[in-house]
Amino acid sequence: MEKEVRDKYEAVIGLEVHAQMLTKTKAYSNDVNEYGAQVNTNISAITLGHPGTLPKMNSKTIDFAIRLGIACGCTIAREQHFARKNYFYPDLPKGYQITQDTTPICTGGSIVIRTEENQEKKINITRIHMEEDAGKSIHDVDVYDTLVDLNRAGTPLLEIVSEPELRSSQEAYNYVSEIRKLVRYLDICDGNMEEGSLRCDANISVRIKGQDAFGTKVEVKNMNSIRNVQRAIEFEITRQIEVLESGGKLSQETRGFDALKGITISMRSKEAANDYRYFPEPDLQPLFIKQEQIDEIKMDMPTLPRALFEKYTKEFGLSEYDAYNLTDNKGIALYYEELIRHTKNYKAAANWIMGDIKSYLNEFGKEIDEFPLNTERIASLIKLIDEGKISSSIASQKIFPEMLISDDPALFIAERLNLIQDSSENTLKNFILQVFEENKTEVERYKAGDKQLTGFFMGKLMKVSNGKADPKIANSLLQQMLNT
Ligand code: ADP
Ligand code: MG
Repeated sequence: MEKEVRDKYEAVIGLEVHAQMLTKTKAYSNDVNEYGAQVNTNISAITLGHPGTLPKMNSKTIDFAIRLGIACGCTIAREQHFARKNYFYPDLPKGYQITQDTTPICTGGSIVIRTEENQEKKINITRIHMEEDAGKSIHDVDVYDTLVDLNRAGTPLLEIVSEPELRSSQEAYNYVSEIRKLVRYLDICDGNMEEGSLRCDANISVRIKGQDAFGTKVEVKNMNSIRNVQRAIEFEITRQIEVLESGGKLSQETRGFDALKGITISMRSKEAANDYRYFPEPDLQPLFIKQEQIDEIKMDMPTLPRALFEKYTKEFGLSEYDAYNLTDNKGIALYYEELIRHTKNYKAAANWIMGDIKSYLNEFGKEIDEFPLNTERIASLIKLIDEGKISSSIASQKIFPEMLISDDPALFIAERLNLIQDSSENTLKNFILQVFEENKTEVERYKAGDKQLTGFFMGKLMKVSNGKADPKIANSLLQQMLNT
């Protein structure tokens, strides 16, 4: 699409994110809640919705919802009512979902994202409510039939509905990433979009820039990664602009995303939309949340990425870039938090994690909790550098790899490999003289005015000294000897 055409329009996006709760049992029964179990094993009569069975509220889901609500600054409703959302589907054995209609547990609050211009932007949350998942229809195992696995039926969900305040596919990407990060920090959902434990429906419309009224929205489903949420939205924005530009009209509909083709396809129109006939769930009593319960959860909240980000930038003086990278993954943040209990060199600690440690993890496809070196060992390495015993390049190239295969303390390794920095003037002088001897033409050129050769001499010096020359001292000595 031509840029001038695209630039006339603005996208308006609101997301509905479903997060499966990491509770041991299901939302309204004692059936085990686990991903990947043998099909149709965690399905008691309650999950199957047999006549005469009664749901029983899992109080853990309330705790989790409150935890998320507090983290987002929501108002927590003290009175909870449940509702039936009725529809027929083969993987919905009861014929309805128990959800919340007019009394969501959380309202207000927000998620803070970064825009493309790297500005903070608050995305307001309309509501967060509790509900249950349906089972799963499996279309790709049997060639002729659809199979149904009901293990997932009754899994507790939190649905997080945003205001239509996102303005680009990138903002939507960042918003879902923030939610995933948050639920992982809160330990309430594993955030795995590929396995469907975090899902997202995107509502998308476009309007001419400057226009107040919203355009007709289209809802897109079936994205199994955050990248695909972004791709689906991007496709949909272009498609809608093209329809409008060619004089057409958009219709309110639900579309599905085809990740292989990268396109959205109409599933059903508004006229065919379900009428869910919500009504109060007669089998569950309204529930009252005590202020003490909210206070208790508040006291027990884990540190959140935003608070860590503030601390790292404001107290530790790290760059926003560093702080973002350290807090993006909860495991990494926890490792850093532990590391800085053993060293006060915050920047060096951050560099080790984002440099050598992350490279190691990437290379071996590991998570930080599988990293073999504890924080004390990394701190001892930082100490050796700070004391001038080894250079940071020697630490990174020689000592760190050796520590991965040896339990020896860093200092022992440095001594064993004969890598302790030698900064006695005599030794350094001899090394420098050797470098001059071996590179006579360059010395001539330097004296004739080519001052850029300093770097060349430093490189040679490091080589002949086996990396043991303290760079700072060596550099000043080198300058001194070159200029006399
Ligand atoms: P529905 O009644 O179809 O469920 P809601 O008003 O409940 O619609 O909104 C559902 C989601 O759609 C919310 O995330 C909301 O922000 C978003 N939304 C509402 N109107 C628009 C619009 N015109 N364009 C994009 N998103 C919208
Ligand atoms: Mg709605």
